[in-house]
Amino acid sequence: MEEKLQTLKNTAVDELSRVSDMETLHELRVKYLGKKGSLTAVLRSMGSLSPEMRPRIGQIVNEIREELEQIIASKTEELKQAELMRRLAAEKIDVTLPGRRPPSGHLHPITLTLNRIKETFMRMGFKVAEGPEIENDYYNFEALNLPQDHPARDMQDSFYITEEFLLRTHTSPVQVRTMQSVKPNQPVRIIAPGKVYRRDYDATHSPMFHQVEGLVIDKGISFADLKGTLELFLREIFGGDVRVRFRPSFFPFTEPSAEVDISCVMCGGTGCRVCSGTGWLEILGSGMVHPRVLEMSNFDPAVVSGFAFGMGVERIAMLLYGIDDLRLFYENDLRFLQQFR
Ligand SMILES: [Zn+2]
Repeated sequence: MEEKLQTLKNTAVDELSRVSDMETLHELRVKYLGKKGSLTAVLRSMGSLSPEMRPRIGQIVNEIREELEQIIASKTEELKQAELMRRLAAEKIDVTLPGRRPPSGHLHPITLTLNRIKETFMRMGFKVAEGPEIENDYYNFEALNLPQDHPARDMQDSFYITEEFLLRTHTSPVQVRTMQSVKPNQPVRIIAPGKVYRRDYDATHSPMFHQVEGLVIDKGISFADLKGTLELFLREIFGGDVRVRFRPSFFPFTEPSAEVDISCVMCGGTGCRVCSGTGWLEILGSGMVHPRVLEMSNFDPAVVSGFAFGMGVERIAMLLYGIDDLRLFYENDLRFLQQFR
């Protein structure tokens, strides 16, 4: 019996010494020390031993049990340490690796274009003025010499919110608000950039788009000032050799009025698809502020005069970047937008 126990112990110690994972260790514990384990079986069979042998065998079994418990305990600790070391090695951070840059955003091409336009005018002494995008009928039409029954109102298919309020169809209301915010006949020199809304949607129109309008009022302002300012602006934006021409036109809020064209930036003026073979591109509208508009904001046309102009920012961006479909600006396709990084 004693020999049998000794062999059992040796086998157990040998097996335990070769264990390399927790699962096997647990299995061996069950195998030797569990309720149905080998040592327990020996204890159970003690009934068949002579009374003199029982205490002796019992003692040996207990000694073996203790020894095995100890080995298992130290093996458990050893395996835990090994696992910790393995994880430390696997999860080690190499601080010398280059960092991963978080993706950073950048300005939208329309914002880039707007900024260029603003900077150019600010260098000429213009201030930036802003106003609400939801306007009332008075500021959007009436104060601009566009009374209720004026045919020009049909030209602009607008987004009305109520009978009286609408999404502004141009940034011109900001001009009126600016005139009303200063004392009559005081000098004004502002640009009004911002979003405007009309019911159009195709390759060159979007229901929301951006305008920059400008207004200059002072004593002795003439058409020569209008021409000089806009020529300088267009050369700053499109390059020094761009040619500029003024064509007579009509706007209800200016008199006289002029459309301003530049020589085609795609073909240089020889004629191409972009300029429909004419060599010219219509780029903005302008004119001397109508005396009625001055009077409605309590300016005296006998004392001061002024000029105003307006342009579409999308059109300028399309020409600057060579984009042929305006809708690309608002589809939020990163493959398109990331080209302007
Ligand atoms: Zn052309």
